[in-house]
Amino acid sequence: MSITIAVPKETASGERRVAIVPSVIKLLDKLGVEVRMQKGAGEAAGFPDHLYEGVSWADKADKLYAGADIVLRVQPPSVEEAGKLPEKSLLLGHMNPHEGDSRIRNLNKREVTSFALELVPRITRAQSIDALSSQANIAGYKCALLAAHLSPKLFPMLTTAAGTVRPARVVVIGAGVAGLQAIATAKRLGAIVEAYDVRSATKEQVESLGGKFIDTGVSAEGAGGYARELTEEEKAQQAEVLAQHLEKADGVITTAAIPGRPAPKIISTKTVERMQSGAVIVDMAAETGGNCELTEAGKEINHKGVTISGPKNIPSMAATHASEMYARNLCNLLALLVKDGEIHLDWEDQVVADSCLTHGGETRHTPTRERMEGDK
Ligand code: NAD
Repeated sequence: MSITIAVPKETASGERRVAIVPSVIKLLDKLGVEVRMQKGAGEAAGFPDHLYEGVSWADKADKLYAGADIVLRVQPPSVEEAGKLPEKSLLLGHMNPHEGDSRIRNLNKREVTSFALELVPRITRAQSIDALSSQANIAGYKCALLAAHLSPKLFPMLTTAAGTVRPARVVVIGAGVAGLQAIATAKRLGAIVEAYDVRSATKEQVESLGGKFIDTGVSAEGAGGYARELTEEEKAQQAEVLAQHLEKADGVITTAAIPGRPAPKIISTKTVERMQSGAVIVDMAAETGGNCELTEAGKEINHKGVTISGPKNIPSMAATHASEMYARNLCNLLALLVKDGEIHLDWEDQVVADSCLTHGGETRHTPTRERMEGDK
């Protein structure tokens, strides 16, 4: 009997993406799996049911999951959904392993083998599975557009009969995957772009995109290519140098993050008050607390003439392409887990071992297990 993959309609509020798009069905055929989807699953992402060829359909989750071997999702299941997944099935998607212990306990009760895309190691071989990067790319692009949209100024230089418009000045904070895309997008819109990151390795990347690197004299190279948390002294030094650049900015896009931790607070209320009236801050880190002290997730506020936007679930704003990239990431992960039409878990494979959150009723990801044991 061949493997059945179930793809539910996402239930999280505001989520428009879908885990599987029509163009990857052929890739799944090659893996020898059958696909069953919940009716309307792709609609919000621009993929109505009739575009999916060779897929069977279920109207309710219980019918969708009956006899399914693998479940593919975008967002983590709710606690209740986790408790209803097929027993001993495989679950692939975002799992938000840094929180949601009740969900993880329910996955273990059902002996679900869950693979968290957040845990995929950032090694060259796993780049095609790296959903954090694919979705961050989209988010960076959208944030730059959002900044341009919210700004009362134009981004490009214009020379017209009615006068010359000077190009906008944009500062991007955090030059990881999202930040670099924000720099490239703001440049394409014609802005003068400056950027800052605690990892000095980003200087060259910023400059290769035509941005100017802001040197605050603080470097925070951490393990695995990520940043470490800064000391209080380092934070103060960083804040003052940055403030001098933010004072002149028309648009600011912040993307700074430390995996599994609240977002670092980089722009204080005092710094916002030093900024020009009409300036815009788009805070991509809003959902994890924000890089700006004043950010409110899901809201757009105005503080003394400065607009601060804290958009949530930004990749979902470009649901079609975000789903296409995400679906490819999932298919590439599946190709490591399904061999000759059967599930084959090779625990010697670093990608398989590192990205597994739960298996056989146990939490395999050590930091998550230790946190949960500490919570008991
Ligand atoms: P992220 O989303 O965790 O963080 C975004 C950026 O914020 C990072 O560049 C980080 O250095 C920066 N940051 C953190 N604290 C800061 C602070 N206080 N001030 C300013 N900036 C701060 O990171 P990401 O974009 O997902 O990835 C970071 C890096 O990981 C990439 O740029 C790359 O070098 C590496 N990476 C490697 C692979 C791979 O090899 N397969 C894939 C993706 C990313």
